[in-house]
Amino acid sequence: MRLVVLGGGESGVGTAILGKEKGYEVFVSDFGKIKDKYKQVLTDNKIAWEEEQHTESKILNATVVMKSPGIPEKVAIVKKLVEKGIPVISEIEFAAAFTKAITIGITGSNGKTTTTMLTYHLLKSAGLNVGLGGNIGKSFAWQVVNDSFDSYVLELSSFQLDGIVNYKPHIAIITNISPDHLDRYDYKYENYIDSKFRITMNQTEEDYLIYDADDEAITNWLQNNKTRAKLIPFSLTKMFEEGAFIKDNTMKVSINQEDFKMETEAIALEGKHNMKNAMAATSVAKLMQIRKATIRESLSNFQGVEHRLESVLKIQNVQYINDSKATNVNATFFALDSMNTPTVWIVGGVDKGNDYNELMSLVREKVKAIVCLGVDNKKIIDAFGDVVDDMIEVNNMNDAVKMAQRFTEKGDTVLLSPACASFDLFENYEDRGNQFKQAVQNL
Ligand code: ADP
Repeated sequence: MRLVVLGGGESGVGTAILGKEKGYEVFVSDFGKIKDKYKQVLTDNKIAWEEEQHTESKILNATVVMKSPGIPEKVAIVKKLVEKGIPVISEIEFAAAFTKAITIGITGSNGKTTTTMLTYHLLKSAGLNVGLGGNIGKSFAWQVVNDSFDSYVLELSSFQLDGIVNYKPHIAIITNISPDHLDRYDYKYENYIDSKFRITMNQTEEDYLIYDADDEAITNWLQNNKTRAKLIPFSLTKMFEEGAFIKDNTMKVSINQEDFKMETEAIALEGKHNMKNAMAATSVAKLMQIRKATIRESLSNFQGVEHRLESVLKIQNVQYINDSKATNVNATFFALDSMNTPTVWIVGGVDKGNDYNELMSLVREKVKAIVCLGVDNKKIIDAFGDVVDDMIEVNNMNDAVKMAQRFTEKGDTVLLSPACASFDLFENYEDRGNQFKQAVQNL
């Protein structure tokens, strides 16, 4: 049996090692360069590999192919594999077959990482023997080699889900759905929505699907399609007999005729979107029968995740917030929505087809000045030029932070929430967020 792995990154190398362990003849092929640390691991494990090419004779003879999530389905080598009828699957599909552990699979357009980390924190603090993987940290497949966990919390992108056949999480979460990555889905939003819902396609009556009942794309899909999983909704506006909601500033989660209540103020994460993430993670904790006291303590001490509405510093009574991970309008919407002081907003970068109108009323209400931080800021200027009093263009982070400071008065907030990808001026969103934090520290 020959396993070919396309892509020699974290998930590719993890899958290769698991495949080798399970007796496959393994070959790793990457059209780009493979990082030195991974080359070393492959060589140490006697796994054949190539980089900067795809040698067809070594690929088209595969029994099964694991395609890394970053590789689009339309590249030539993948098309050829599909034409030949060779199964092309994702890391999650490959690895899940080799573990009896239950998995909690978390997908959505925004909030995956936050919800995954919070869920992991809840289960781990309760003393469960739980692993963390998927799009985060160490490859799931790599962890399945030793398979010492009883459960895994997995962050799953739609690309991971596109490559599943039999995989099913015991508990699935869909945090929300808004248009993203449409270039990979023939520019059809329906295709992207269907892709997210693959998370539930193999679930049975014993499994659970936790979802945002305020999200139209999700509720429409559920009205028109079937899932066998037991549904657990969460909402900021509706109430449920079974599910999670917020009423009178209290989060209430009712599952299996048991209630968990907690004042939202005592929850460490802030902002409405994070209340949703907290409801989703708490629902998992209830399903896993974690004690109330443990849930309460974990929700009150969770520190949040870097670059997601991260409080950096307060200088002269101005709060600086790093939300560099906000690479689309929906994420920025929630960031602006959770501001409760006048805000100087740093925005811009590579726009993936943004409709800024969605932010218009929040900007009118909360934003006093805009700092445009991108190579091409035209769309932002056109959208908000007449809406805010002050607007300025800059092309590096130091200037952005300095200019932002000039617009502030005591009590204001400076928010970096770009609504755009970072590749025009930065290496990635982490680089952008780190530069922001550095620049703030230098003020
Ligand atoms: P993902 O892993 O899906 O990209 P993250 O947790 O990394 O999600 O958050 C990405 C961005 O979206 C951040 O700017 C964050 O503040 C924002 N965000 C987090 N949770 C939500 C949510 N439930 N709805 C909308 N935006 C969110």
